[in-house]
Amino acid sequence: MHRRGFVSLSAAFAVAPLAARAASQQRVTLSGTMQQGSLVIGHAEAGARVRVDGKLLSVGETGLFAFGLAYDQKGAATVTARFTDGDTETHDVTPVVREYEVQAINGLPQNYVSPPEDIERRIKREHALVAEARSQDTDQDWFAEPFDWPGRGIISGLFGSQRILNGTPSAPHFGVDIAEGEGGLIRAPANAIVALAEQFYLEGGYTLLDHGRGVFTGYFHQSQQLVKQGDRVSRGQVFGHVGHTGRATGPHLHWAMNWFQVRLDPSRSTRTPAPPKA
Ligand SMILES: [Zn+2]
Repeated sequence: MHRRGFVSLSAAFAVAPLAARAASQQRVTLSGTMQQGSLVIGHAEAGARVRVDGKLLSVGETGLFAFGLAYDQKGAATVTARFTDGDTETHDVTPVVREYEVQAINGLPQNYVSPPEDIERRIKREHALVAEARSQDTDQDWFAEPFDWPGRGIISGLFGSQRILNGTPSAPHFGVDIAEGEGGLIRAPANAIVALAEQFYLEGGYTLLDHGRGVFTGYFHQSQQLVKQGDRVSRGQVFGHVGHTGRATGPHLHWAMNWFQVRLDPSRSTRTPAPPKA
């Protein structure tokens, strides 16, 4: 039997709890905010082989898997599951289209906007390290419960904003900025393994957390890093301090999320729409 389902698109913020997913009669269930830049969390019957647009996903022992919708994705992502009895089920997930802001930032040192060639080479090297770290497919399901905010304060930069740096149109802003004072505490939003803890040119003090099955979160501009590559961190654990290292006009936490190399909006996977007040 072949079933084809269409995921109902909901503007609701909350990520459905595991229990709600388990109660569904479908053999595959999908949850998330289903917008451009959203992480989608799936659950499939034991033993199912799951593909997204043809790419085979790793599925946990409990049936959990994940994938991301790109920030500019307009077409549907097609999820196909093949069960141990030979049946298949297909779901098309069409992301809700978002409108992104335009944000002008001035007063950045020009070396950060149009770096000289040697620095450009350094940036490329550092980004290659990040891409390599984010190609890991760790057999953990720590991404499956809604994330906590890693810092406190107001949101000062939104995911996807078109950036104009010192008057020059630049790459979109692939993260959420939380305005917090120098030294503010950065907490793990979920359990993770530290995939990278480095000092990079643009990102400054940079930590990459691996939450399993290609779901990563990144933390930029830290003044202090308390963990190293390979460390385990638990949800709520302080692992760094807010700073303004790298390309930053002032202290804040830039929080990024990825599914492998696909850039996602971490604010679409949090328990609450905004961080707690400072
Ligand atoms: Zn930022």
